[in-house]
Amino acid sequence: MSRESAASAEKPLICLQCDLPLEMGKVNVAYLGSMFPVDLLRCPKCGQAFIPEELALGKMAEVEKILEDK
Ligand SMILES: [Zn+2]
Repeated sequence: MSRESAASAEKPLICLQCDLPLEMGKVNVAYLGSMFPVDLLRCPKCGQAFIPEELALGKMAEVEKILEDK
């Protein structure tokens, strides 16, 4: 059994609005009432950021840890 859909190969993500490939860039993510700059894929034209599910779940946990350290 080989399921390609689950494997995260390096396929470029396309902005559905602009039909442009997303680029890595700093995006401010709001979390716990504060803004954090995070490297995310975003559309170079409309600025729409793509937040993958694993980042929304995993990276946010990291942000939370950073806050607790302060
Ligand atoms: Zn766009």
